[in-house]
Amino acid sequence: MHAHRNGFSFTTRLLNADDDGLDGLSVSPSLHQSVNYAARDDAHLREMAAPLGNEYYTRRGNPTTARLVNVIADLEGGEAGMMFASGMGAITTTLMTFLRAGDHVVGQRSHYMGTTELLDEILPSYGVETSRVDQTSVSAFEQAIRPNTKLIVLETPVNPMMHITDLRAVCELAKARGILTFCDNTFATPINQRPMELGVDIVMHSATKYIGGHHDLLAGSVTASRELVARIWDRSLVTGAIAAPFNSWLALRGIRTLELRVRQQNANGLAIARFLESHPAVRRVFYPGLTSHPQHELACAQMSGFGGLLTFDLKGGSAAASEFIAALQLASYATSLGGVSSTVMRPAVLFGDRLSPTIVEEQGITPGLIRFAAGIENTEDLVADVGQALDRLGR
Ligand SMILES: *Cc1c(COP(=O)(O)O)cnc(C)c1O
Repeated sequence: MHAHRNGFSFTTRLLNADDDGLDGLSVSPSLHQSVNYAARDDAHLREMAAPLGNEYYTRRGNPTTARLVNVIADLEGGEAGMMFASGMGAITTTLMTFLRAGDHVVGQRSHYMGTTELLDEILPSYGVETSRVDQTSVSAFEQAIRPNTKLIVLETPVNPMMHITDLRAVCELAKARGILTFCDNTFATPINQRPMELGVDIVMHSATKYIGGHHDLLAGSVTASRELVARIWDRSLVTGAIAAPFNSWLALRGIRTLELRVRQQNANGLAIARFLESHPAVRRVFYPGLTSHPQHELACAQMSGFGGLLTFDLKGGSAAASEFIAALQLASYATSLGGVSSTVMRPAVLFGDRLSPTIVEEQGITPGLIRFAAGIENTEDLVADVGQALDRLGR
């Protein structure tokens, strides 16, 4: 039925998705809040409890969550997937699936803070060896690989300096050695970057950010081959960090406008980055869409848009950074990103107490550094607001 629909773009396919057999004739997806589903007999119970089943008991699967999984898998070009209670639930469960004591994992110098802590402290405490390398250098990945390397953890673009990892080159290295690759694709979104097309085995999102898109749900996703997802599913039965059906339902609603939102966020990110680059109060702007970004060419090769997230360093340091944030009228001073409304954050304040001084320095988290996550507001309004806040500095 409706095979012709496969020729349509993602958003068109999503909005005209074939009914999954559970929703009857409802035009928008239903919320299946029931934790238990009754079996008709022994044979039916066995069928329902099979790996990656989507009924029976919500820790093992849920129809609303299964529908979201299929939408994300379609978007990323993967066979199967899973939803977790949060991005961190997805990362922790996946790494625990593929790593045991005596194995080695290679990560990047910069990662989301929870991933950094998992690689630096938690995994080593269970006997897993970890290395973190300069993600801008493909040979740094190659040199870090050991005979017991099982997994390479990637994330691009990555905070705080918006470095880019060459996904195709690193995946080639990994494939030749039988090493799995995992990529956190949260910042790029699958609209701007599809890591599986570049060779990545497992793609992860904090769906809390762009996929949900409205600052109102916490969830994480993993997309991969059926075989790999079956292994992650098996481990998730024990870690139990499973998405709540209500959050999956909210994310299904959010993802319907993902493409529209990301297009506006791409436009806003680029406009703000260009404006900041021309302003005398700004020392440096980090945004992969700027020609001044040292990896701009690589960004153009593996991304189709550069997103709404950027960082910049104010010449006036800490005082200027807090003055700037106080003067903004539109962006909230809040930690999350990827929602419809803009947020702004100071990494030095957010991470300064939690990360060691060496890491703060190594990551380039300067006192004047600001992370701006553009929402979908009108571009001219956002640029004007950033402009008036900068013009007040030092007055
Ligand atoms: C937020 C975030 C995470 C963690 O996701 P949660 O949903 O907050 O657990 C992981 N990676 C990136 C890049 C993020 O921005």
